[in-house]
Amino acid sequence: MRMLIMGPPGAGKGTQAGAIAEHYGIPAISTGMIFRLAITDRTALGERIKRVIAQGGYVSDDLTLQVVHARLAQPDAANGWLLDGFPRTVGQVVSLDNDLANDGNKVDAVIALTADEDAVVARLLKRAEIEGREDDNEATIRNRMAVYAAETGPLLDVYRARGVLIEVDGLGSVDEVAERIFTALDAKVGV
Ligand code: AMP
Repeated sequence: MRMLIMGPPGAGKGTQAGAIAEHYGIPAISTGMIFRLAITDRTALGERIKRVIAQGGYVSDDLTLQVVHARLAQPDAANGWLLDGFPRTVGQVVSLDNDLANDGNKVDAVIALTADEDAVVARLLKRAEIEGREDDNEATIRNRMAVYAAETGPLLDVYRARGVLIEVDGLGSVDEVAERIFTALDAKVGV
């Protein structure tokens, strides 16, 4: 099973990704998490990307694709994965498509969490208090929303046209949203 989880910042992708991945026995791979670790570990990659992440912009496709190529080549990703936060640009969609096609694979399902902007801003400000993420302040959050709407929102149309998009209301308790996702996935891919 190869799946994506998409949605605006604060829609709950990370939390739901963990539950879904566990259910299917596949790794949840978050590019945002990989980038944050690189920054904490002060690697060469971390030094290159920390500014853009702190401002809520996107890391270049070039660097992002290198990171994803390397991660998907790991043995645990051979039979399936759930990508959280990737692809985010048209270039990333094309690259992922090419990689998958080379191996005769495809994206089986795309879960898109929907959420009202004010609700997600409130959620992210709360997360800032708990996790202390540097990019969870209101100015950066609004910027991340705008970048999402411009760059990533349109990608949903691509997956809708392919018939693999599953839109799920991301507001509610973690369990409620998880239940909606599993019901929708069950109806769509029968698992
Ligand atoms: P996330 O944890 O998914 O909210 O990602 C946190 C930040 O990492 C984003 O605001 C971007 O700066 C960066 N990032 C994560 N995934 C990508 C991606 N696929 N392309 C570009 N930038 C990304």
